[in-house]
Amino acid sequence: MSQPKKDYYAILEINKEASQEEITAAYRQLAKKWHPDRHKDPEKKKLAEEKFKEITEANSILSDENKRRQYDDFGLCDGETPDFSQGFPDLSEIFGNMGMPGMGGMGGMPGFPFMGGMGGMGGMGGMHGMGGSREVKIQQEFKVKLKVEEIFTGCEKTIEIPIEDICNDCDGTGSKSKKKKTCTDCKGKGVKLMVRQIGPGMISQQTVPCSTCEQKGTVVDKTNPCTNCASKGTKSSKLTKKITIKKNFDYQTKMCLRESGNYDTNHGKKADIYIIFKLTDLENYNLKISNDYDLVYDLDIKIWDALSGYTIYLPNHPSGNKYSFKLGEIIKDGDVRFVKKLGLPNDDNGSFGKLIIKFNYVYPKTIMDNENLKNFLRDKDEPKIQNKNDFIKEKLCNPEIEMDDHRPNNSRNFRNSHREDGESGPECIQS
Ligand SMILES: [Zn+2]
Ligand SMILES: [Zn+2]
Repeated sequence: MSQPKKDYYAILEINKEASQEEITAAYRQLAKKWHPDRHKDPEKKKLAEEKFKEITEANSILSDENKRRQYDDFGLCDGETPDFSQGFPDLSEIFGNMGMPGMGGMGGMPGFPFMGGMGGMGGMGGMHGMGGSREVKIQQEFKVKLKVEEIFTGCEKTIEIPIEDICNDCDGTGSKSKKKKTCTDCKGKGVKLMVRQIGPGMISQQTVPCSTCEQKGTVVDKTNPCTNCASKGTKSSKLTKKITIKKNFDYQTKMCLRESGNYDTNHGKKADIYIIFKLTDLENYNLKISNDYDLVYDLDIKIWDALSGYTIYLPNHPSGNKYSFKLGEIIKDGDVRFVKKLGLPNDDNGSFGKLIIKFNYVYPKTIMDNENLKNFLRDKDEPKIQNKNDFIKEKLCNPEIEMDDHRPNNSRNFRNSHREDGESGPECIQS
C-alpha cells in the first residue's frame, strides 16, 4: 500500500496533530449528525449508515494510540472495519463510553465459528509481506562504465539516464481531468476481504490486495484519457547529469540521485537512481580483479629467471606509473607474491588493494634431448628496458611470510550501502 486508503483524519474533519480530546469531540459531533436512528428517509438513512460506519471506523483507529501510530506509518490497522451486525450503538453509548461499540469479538452469524476475529484484519501479519508496504523504497540502477585508468586519474562524465518522467498534461494521473477514479472493486481501500472455507462449517476471512487497482485504491479514469501519455501517467524522457570521478576513486561507490528517476504513479514520487560503476579495459593491462580491490597479474616466467634473481618490469600499470620488482629469492612454479598498495583505490580508508603476481613456469611442449633441454633451461627472458630510472622500485612480499595487513575492507560492498543508518550509504549527488 502506498497511501492510507482512507483518510481517517479527513473523515473526522480534524488535522493530523489532533489530540485525543479533539478526536473524541469530533467523533461525538459527527456521530450525532450521522447516527442512522436519526434519519427516517430511506435514502438518507442509507447514507447515514455509511457515514456512521466510516466515522466509527476512523475513531476506532485514531482513538487508539497504537492503531493510530500503525495507521500513520503503514496506512492500515488491525480491526479496521467495525462490526455492526448487531445493530448500531445508541448515541448514549457513544457519549458515555468511548470504547468501541460492536468492535471485535465473535460475529453475529450463529453456527459459523469465525477464525481470526470478526471484522479484524485477519491478514494483517501478511500485509507487511505483500510487497506493497510504504516502506519499500523505489529505486532504479544505472550502470556507468569506467576505464580502469580513469579511476586513478579522475574524470568527468556526462551521463544520460533514460527515465519515465511524470506526464505534465495529466500530473501522472493518466486522465485529462487530473483526477483518478476510486476503484470500485475495493471501494478505494486497496484491499478486499476474502472469505474462505477452511473446513466443514469453518471459514476464515483474510484481506487480500486488490488486483484491479494494484492496491492503489484508485484507477485511471478511462472515460477521460490523457492523450499525451496514453493514460500511463508517465512519458519517456532523459535525465542528463554530469558526474565527477575524483582521483583515486573507489569504483564500488554507489552514487545516488535522490528522487530523480522513474516517476512511480503508485507512490506519487520519483525513484532514487543509484549509479553503479563497471570497470573496463583491465585486459589492456593483463590484469584481473580479485577481492574487489586487488589486481592479479599472471606472469609466465622462464625457469632460469625464476632461479636467478630476476627483475620484473611493469611498464603499464593503470595508475600511469611504471614499476620494477626484483626477485630476491627462488620462485617456484605457482608461487604468488604481492605488492602492497598497487591495487585499486579503496576510498573507504584511503588505501589501495594490492597487486598480486602469480608466477607460472614456462615448460617445454615436448620431451627434449639433453642438449635442447640445457638450452631451454638456460633460456632467459631479458627484458629490453630503456630508461630503467623511470621505474619505481617496489618490494615483492611473500604472502607466506608477511602478514597481509592491507586487505581491503570487505565489509563494504554493494549490499551494505543499502544500510539504513546512513553510515556507509551511497554518495549522494545534489540534484
Ligand atoms: Zn481496488
Ligand atoms: Zn498524461
